[in-house]
Amino acid sequence: MFPQDRRENWFKGQGLWSDVPQEKWRDYRWQLRNRLTKVEQLREHLDLTPEEEQGCAHAGNKLAMAITPYFFNLIDRDNVDDPIRKQVIPRGDEMFTAPEELLDPVGEEGSMGVPGLVHRYPDRVLFLVTNVCAAYCRYCTRSRLVSNAQGYDFHPNFENCIKYIEEHPEVRDVLLSGGDPLLLSDKKLDYLLGRLRAIPHLEFIRIGSRIPTFLPQRITPQLQEIFRKHGPIWMSIHVNHPNECTEELYEATERLTMAGVPLGNQSVLLKDVNDDVETMRSLVHRLLMMRVRPYYIYQCDLITGSRHFRADVRKGIEIVESLRGYTTGYAVPQFVIDAPGGGGKVPINPEYVQEITDDEIILRNFAGEEYRYPLKISARDEVHVPDDVIEPVLA
Ligand SMILES: *Cc1c(COP(=O)(O)O)cnc(C)c1O
Ligand code: SF4
Repeated sequence: MFPQDRRENWFKGQGLWSDVPQEKWRDYRWQLRNRLTKVEQLREHLDLTPEEEQGCAHAGNKLAMAITPYFFNLIDRDNVDDPIRKQVIPRGDEMFTAPEELLDPVGEEGSMGVPGLVHRYPDRVLFLVTNVCAAYCRYCTRSRLVSNAQGYDFHPNFENCIKYIEEHPEVRDVLLSGGDPLLLSDKKLDYLLGRLRAIPHLEFIRIGSRIPTFLPQRITPQLQEIFRKHGPIWMSIHVNHPNECTEELYEATERLTMAGVPLGNQSVLLKDVNDDVETMRSLVHRLLMMRVRPYYIYQCDLITGSRHFRADVRKGIEIVESLRGYTTGYAVPQFVIDAPGGGGKVPINPEYVQEITDDEIILRNFAGEEYRYPLKISARDEVHVPDDVIEPVLA
């Protein structure tokens, strides 16, 4: 374990907002009301680079800027390359669109059963329930609709989406996403989960949310009660860097776990944020300490203005390879590319199979040593019978 991974070294505190009474700081409504959404607010606390000034000027046309005070505090303000800073503070590079980039990089619009409901895989649907988030990730795959900076005007009709699921008995799994489903009011969330739970063929309900990372205060006792009532509800949270693993996140994940919510994590591989082995190893270890199972690492989608975020795919493979065998199996996420144009998630793996013939499979283990596993199953008459085995056993 690295010293920084020990929980006593995890960040906790109000930092820049030390003068705010603790009950306000812990109130998610206060955090939302006091989000940094204007460049002037950033300038009060940070020396913005020219790149960032440019990015802020453009953000209103692409993806709104918003950062909760809680999350802003995690930025090391003396470091222009801070990994938290890069995720939420716009940079000028967002303005440029490369030829390979797309507004809808994973082709969701083409797979909508009804508006807001993406039905790509045989047995499960992605239900986009809102277009708002507590803070905005500059590399967001759904920048086209999230925050409404591009005028998409996303207004999902819940009743139509629920009806679609009711009428499709093959759908056994629904994934609520957006935007962030945990920004729905308790009342709406309670209603929606209740309606979904009442669909007999729906076996599996999960939520994709970055709220635990951006706004851990939102995981209240009232929300716990909703999850208990409609459970089991699974959740995929979104943590990219070990610095996001704070005491507050620990407490939020603990509240979720105590409410019976199994937790997974999805990370996006981001250039100069988390595309190195040490960072990812530290992240997955911290996640396990919070009872969170690393689920996916995504190659960054080809969203418009993402050139500065896209890491080398080979780096992702190297990260997985450096974890497998060297650390707890639970800590190893699946690296995927969500295929451009709508092919779905494709697993990208280090190669451990050297060769397969009718007789054997030749393997490479995690340390690079070669092993063989025979595929030929011997006939009974080739079996050696020990002298002391009694006859009837073989009859
Ligand atoms: C990611 C995704 C899912 C869920 O996929 P899992 O591999 O089951 O996590 C479902 N539908 C869509 C459209 C998705 O993008
Ligand atoms: S939390 Fe998710 S939906 Fe919201 S901006 Fe970040 S990646 Fe996009």
